[in-house]
Amino acid sequence: MQAYLDNAATTKLSPAARDAMLRGYEIYGNPSSLHSFGREAAAALNQARERIAACIGADPGEIYFTSGGTESDNQAIASAVGHAREKRHIITTSIEHHAVLHYLKRFTVTRGFRLSLIPVDKEGLVNPEDIRAAICEDTCLVSVMFANNEIGTIQPIEEIGAICREANVPFHCDAVQAAGHLPLDVRHLKVDMLSISGHKFHGPKGVGALYCRRGMPLRPLLLGGAQEKNRRAGTENLPAVMGMAAALEESAAEMDEASARLIGYRGQLIEGLSKIELSHLNGSRTRRLPGNVNFCFEGLEGESLLLYLDALGIAASSGSACTSGSLEPSHVLLAIGRPHEVAHGSLRLSLSRCTTQEEIDYALREIPVVVERLRSMSPVWDRLRRG
Ligand code: PLP
Repeated sequence: MQAYLDNAATTKLSPAARDAMLRGYEIYGNPSSLHSFGREAAAALNQARERIAACIGADPGEIYFTSGGTESDNQAIASAVGHAREKRHIITTSIEHHAVLHYLKRFTVTRGFRLSLIPVDKEGLVNPEDIRAAICEDTCLVSVMFANNEIGTIQPIEEIGAICREANVPFHCDAVQAAGHLPLDVRHLKVDMLSISGHKFHGPKGVGALYCRRGMPLRPLLLGGAQEKNRRAGTENLPAVMGMAAALEESAAEMDEASARLIGYRGQLIEGLSKIELSHLNGSRTRRLPGNVNFCFEGLEGESLLLYLDALGIAASSGSACTSGSLEPSHVLLAIGRPHEVAHGSLRLSLSRCTTQEEIDYALREIPVVVERLRSMSPVWDRLRRG
């Protein structure tokens, strides 16, 4: 038996996305070429742009294709910083993805920008009033993620958007984990820039999009050809873009049914894993992505847990895919107040609409057994038990 419970890392390509990609591979003209082959490719590219725009309430002219969530995040930041003039202050949160945090750090280290890292509460929630209080004359960007990739907490983006709009400060939202899983409407949210990534909603890897509100200046990260209205040089990856458009449309169409089912599975996992002694749910019980479950189990190492689960065919994650392999505990778990030693024993199970009841049952059967086995070998657990 196998259970793929690592959908926040990446999802399975959907048949509709694969079919769209195969059609894209048949269209081999360069979208920038003037001849009929090129025009056919340009038409397919624009159709994909229209479909993606429609899914998030944007105009097609506000969508720029990129190589994924990381590039979209980086470009949004670089652009805001590039237009900052004399302003030298950026606001973000302590639980952003490294595609935001590491890129922002570059500007604090090399260009003298001041960064306000807004803390979160113990469920990982940002208080919009903290953002309001941090905004000053010098602020050139606010960047807050829609839903956290580790603990799934969903932020009050609409309220933060209203605060930024009122203060006339550009607002970027990393919606990589939300797109395809939660309804997104850029006008309603009052975001100026928003990042999405194809492989998080059953589309292909290595492709994403950046929404940039009309009237908002957007600087390129990559320089070269005039693609994407001079905002992103390089021949577009048409098959991937077509696959991403098909995947986003399909996810939007199936969202209601999938969410209801996933919330049920999530509840079963939370209930079952809470029964394990000294286990702690990370994040909010209700204000979280439908498919996200994250626990800390005291007295064990998340990495060992992953290896044992992998041997049983269960694919999960400890912290985010990017932090696994490093000995540092997750910055997100530390930010919600988990002590270092507890944060080390974390397990993230992330579901998608492909997840089945059998996979949930299997995980619920095996995880408590593995936790107990690992703890029985752990001197730390021994000490914890004896108080
Ligand atoms: N932002 C968030 C919240 C993510 O979860 C990820 C990927 O895990 C990224 C950005 C980076 O996206 P990509 O892998 O498409 O570069």
